[in-house]
Amino acid sequence: MVNTPYGGKLKISLDLNNQERHLKGLEGMIQVQPFTDFFYDSLKIADGSYSPLEGFMGEEETDSVLKNESLLDGLPWTVPIVFAIDDATNSKISAGDEIALLDMNKRPYGSMKVETKFRLKKKEFALSVYGTEELKHPNVQDLFESYGDTAISGKVKVFREPELPGGEFEIHPSEAREEFARRGWKGIAAYQARNPPHVAHEYLQKVSLEIPGIDGLFIHLVVGRLKKGDYKANVILESYGALIRGYHRAEKTMMGSLSIAMRYAGPKASIFLAIIRRNFGATHYIVGRDQAGVGGYYDPYAAQRIFDEMDIGMIPLKFKDTFYCRKCMGITSENVCPHGAEDRLIISQTRIRDMLKNNEKIPREIIREEVAEILGSGDVLNE
Ligand SMILES: [Zn+2]
Repeated sequence: MVNTPYGGKLKISLDLNNQERHLKGLEGMIQVQPFTDFFYDSLKIADGSYSPLEGFMGEEETDSVLKNESLLDGLPWTVPIVFAIDDATNSKISAGDEIALLDMNKRPYGSMKVETKFRLKKKEFALSVYGTEELKHPNVQDLFESYGDTAISGKVKVFREPELPGGEFEIHPSEAREEFARRGWKGIAAYQARNPPHVAHEYLQKVSLEIPGIDGLFIHLVVGRLKKGDYKANVILESYGALIRGYHRAEKTMMGSLSIAMRYAGPKASIFLAIIRRNFGATHYIVGRDQAGVGGYYDPYAAQRIFDEMDIGMIPLKFKDTFYCRKCMGITSENVCPHGAEDRLIISQTRIRDMLKNNEKIPREIIREEVAEILGSGDVLNE
């Protein structure tokens, strides 16, 4: 058996039956185009990725997540799922209204019954989730500068599947579960990534598959709204495709995309991302060094420790820093390599981006040739 959904049951409000009738019904409603991040969230609420959530959180539930790290029913939860709106939208919506949701091309795809409106406590949100109010933190900047001041809560229904950055790789929890069952996988290690793979990442994926009880590896790639310097979604997807074709056993590996806004909240993001993977059926969750971190805001191992404090029904697979060591003659880790920094080849993502820009050759001990070729093909970063 793959893992049970978080909270016991997948909460799905994605209904593709009677599409024409449903879409027709949206025409008379107040039309609202959510900010990109909430557009993604609405789709993930509807397909059960965020189960047990059925809609966007109200003030009480948001406060509960910020203060107690739990939903109102006590289930652990770390990142509030809110729907912030700008002043213009705020002026045309009242609690009780049924609104039509518009995609990025301004075409209706679903609806939401607005239960409450409340003022977003941005300062509390930033400090609780991201541990900082500094605007140089990308999510804090979004919160203060891109998100409106008012939030609306309510259940979401989706009747049409708009295009997402993950394209054909986007997968619903129900589809992943079916495929895992078809393959006979019971123990499933989920791997979170938002960048093209290094050889050190491949090592973590393979070591996970060596653990007794793990039948398959689910590589689930977060692709969403691009910030400056991010790799484009197709680059991440193609890189992983090349890695899997060349270096993974096809029958033990599955890849999919998850089009959501990346929350660089370190430990709190790790819990959130692991809950999503539980909804997809995973039993284990791979946590490397500084997962979901950004700019040195979090202790690199805080994302591992939080799994000791919060039980979300996922077994964390914790790994120390991994790298190529000249003396060990291979990829190894802080946990087992006795050598010093002078023997270890460690190159940061930032340095690799610079090397790409300057057309420098990236060492094979860092990135597979097939992946390096894709990264070196130009126009891979969002500028
Ligand atoms: Zn070594």
